[in-house]
Amino acid sequence: MPDLPNSAIADALEELGDLYELDGAITYRVLAYRAAARSVRETSVSVAALAREGRATELAGVGDTLQEKILALLDTGTIPAAEKLRAKIPPGLIAITRLPGLGPKRARLLHAELGIDSLEALREAALAQRLRTVRGLGAKFETSVLAALDRGVAERPAARLLLPSAIELGQALAEGLLEDAAPGTQVMLAGSARRMADSVKDIDLVAVTRAPLALARRLGRLPQIERAGTPSKAGTKAITHSGVGVDLRIAKPSQLGNLLQHFTGSGRHNAALREDTVRRGLHVSEYGVLDDATGSTRSCAREAEVYELLDLAFIEPELRENRGELEAARLSGGAGLPKLIELDDVKGDLHCHTVASDGRNTIEEMALAARERGYEYLAITDHSASHGFGDDVSPDQLRRQIERIHEAGEATEGIELLAGSEVNILPDGSLDYEDELLARLDWVIASVHTAFGMSEQAMTERMIAAIEHPFVDAIGHPTGRLLERREPYALDIQAVTCAAARTGTMLEINANPNRRDLSDLHARAAAQAGAMIVIDSDAHGVERLDVMRWGLATARRAWLTAEHVANTRPWKQFAKLRKRERVAPSASVDRFR
Ligand SMILES: [Zn+2]
Ligand SMILES: [Zn+2]
Repeated sequence: MPDLPNSAIADALEELGDLYELDGAITYRVLAYRAAARSVRETSVSVAALAREGRATELAGVGDTLQEKILALLDTGTIPAAEKLRAKIPPGLIAITRLPGLGPKRARLLHAELGIDSLEALREAALAQRLRTVRGLGAKFETSVLAALDRGVAERPAARLLLPSAIELGQALAEGLLEDAAPGTQVMLAGSARRMADSVKDIDLVAVTRAPLALARRLGRLPQIERAGTPSKAGTKAITHSGVGVDLRIAKPSQLGNLLQHFTGSGRHNAALREDTVRRGLHVSEYGVLDDATGSTRSCAREAEVYELLDLAFIEPELRENRGELEAARLSGGAGLPKLIELDDVKGDLHCHTVASDGRNTIEEMALAARERGYEYLAITDHSASHGFGDDVSPDQLRRQIERIHEAGEATEGIELLAGSEVNILPDGSLDYEDELLARLDWVIASVHTAFGMSEQAMTERMIAAIEHPFVDAIGHPTGRLLERREPYALDIQAVTCAAARTGTMLEINANPNRRDLSDLHARAAAQAGAMIVIDSDAHGVERLDVMRWGLATARRAWLTAEHVANTRPWKQFAKLRKRERVAPSASVDRFR
């Protein structure tokens, strides 16, 4: 039997958190389960496999106890602690937590105050207007509860999958479909996952095969699928155990290009494409291109032919967002389209952590891993003195760390090691090391890790103060967003971008797939404003150096070429691009007068 997907493990941990909350457990314990669920859900490797190797504890928020629970879930299909709680808590109460607008906290309150332990009891109490007697609940709440009950117990809306999980799921489904499939069958990932969007709502698969009905049937039998619609030769729809929709479309080989183009989207790109070509008497659909003049439909086996037929240069999937790509593709042979940056263009990584702060590997281990990935240079940037999570590097420790990095650099052939730091930008815009110490470093990346709630003006001033500091080479994860979890802090990104361009301070695309910060839109605007971009892994362990690819995805969606990105330069050129190596901009000279 195949192992549970990460989403199923995450669901089980989340449910355990809900059960604990219903049972009245202390908040931090409930939060710990939810945090662990989140980190399991967003991990791109199989957590089941990690747990079996005893390595699930490498995930944020997963300790030994949780790893045991995951193993129990894998072996027995259930977590003993959850079973115990389920036996103790009325099942109707668990059903109530699934109603939109309720959740465990309110379900517990209703149980404690009114003895409500089932959906029927909840309906009676709402009709008798007893819910409003509970503190904090009102008549409006009663109305919304009744409406929710009438709609039926809805499943919790599935969260959007971050790109790595979406691609992993898409690949697993494609592999499952290809097992035992007719020879020559192909299955491709389309939709927003192919466009490398930040997150993905459902998985779109496009296939060609000699045995379409068998392939559509097979989808419903894959272990990830909870239920599937009626299979047909055109495909089928299904839902995974974690509530992700899957749309399998099967094309005739002669129409594969049309179907793939259509289901890659985006909807906005396709709408603009249709509008654009209808004026020229052409109608684009998933089946082909209908020509008004001849009345005939031409279908395309290859996707590139679709664009050729429309007199457009091929548009990379990452650009298909109706952000000017059609105009650019129309220009003489696509001269307006950028030659997008590729992973192989990246020559170094300028942001990573070691055991000196909250990383899991040593300087040497990180250096060797970076060299294995073909990098010419790596900056070691542990957290500074006031990181605030108990893993800070004091000024004295940093002095020793600089020596250690330089020693490791001497000892390691074939890679340049930069003694760096990820320095906190304090609320007043100052940094938490003295200038004398910052001057000794080869590379300084400055980031906001605290006081996110400031006004836009104060936050912008804080950021610009750091940008104008002569020893700040780059700004890390500039907007502080965490995808699907935390909004960016209030910031005048245009002012920040202009200040960065003016001072020669680089702006980071943090490649951590939870961040991808700068976003595609911000990175594009920053590059247009003349700011230099740097793409970093922010790795806290050797294997996390590989998240670079998600930063590349953002850079490509931002229309960036290798030219826009500083760390595509070989070491000698990159070294000279650092602000500390350039003529001191006037703004920073002023600081020292
Ligand atoms: Zn950081
Ligand atoms: Zn960092």
